[in-house]
Amino acid sequence: MNRPTKLRTSLLRIALFCFASWFILQEGCIASTPAAITGIEDEDSINGSPALPNEPDYQRALPTADIIIDAGHGGIDGGAHYKEVLEKDINLAVARKVYLLLRSSGVRAILNRNGDYALSDDNRWHPSRSRHKRDLSQRSQLSGEIRTNIVISLHVNWAKNKEVRGPLVLHQDEGQSALLAYCIQDALNRQQQTRFIPRLGKPFYLLNVIKQPAVIVEMGFISHEGDRHMLTDPRKQEQVASAIASGVRNYILLR
Ligand SMILES: [Zn+2]
Repeated sequence: MNRPTKLRTSLLRIALFCFASWFILQEGCIASTPAAITGIEDEDSINGSPALPNEPDYQRALPTADIIIDAGHGGIDGGAHYKEVLEKDINLAVARKVYLLLRSSGVRAILNRNGDYALSDDNRWHPSRSRHKRDLSQRSQLSGEIRTNIVISLHVNWAKNKEVRGPLVLHQDEGQSALLAYCIQDALNRQQQTRFIPRLGKPFYLLNVIKQPAVIVEMGFISHEGDRHMLTDPRKQEQVASAIASGVRNYILLR
């Protein structure tokens, strides 16, 4: 064999060797590709049942929250009133503040209305012709659709006797709801220098249908001059909101 032929044979051998090595390496790689990269093999397929890669997690797609803040009334339903002062406006203003305070301290809060409208307008499923019933059922439905731990519903009280004042928290016939009510009542008592104790809110539809611990917070009396001033002054509303938010945070620490 002359020199150029020898060289060509050697080169051909090297090329063949490289190709064979590459081929073996490729086979080996495919066989040993980790399941985590392909995403095909998981625990189920190992156990013999078919695996469903990339199956959407519908549970995770539902909104979740630590707390739903229900701003009572809205739209055509003004709630209690004193002359031109409407309960629905106070509830919304304080609810927005409570929402921001809780969110800023890391509590996952959801506000069920952020404007002046009736929730009964959203309700197309309740057969009742009563706007009030549709409104209440829509509020309770929300707590069923959103995975939440607790619900607080903000309201303002009214009494014939204009001397009656102060906060009152109503709870369900259940321990967690009572604990939540005590936490919020205590914070509002400190803020308003009162010494009221929460009450069982048995006749309240919302408390009866909501599955999670829920409370109704009557923040003060629209019929009392001092309370009305507190509930309509934005700076004083901030103090009411701050008390409610601190009550909620105390409950979260205690439960
Ligand atoms: Zn109300």
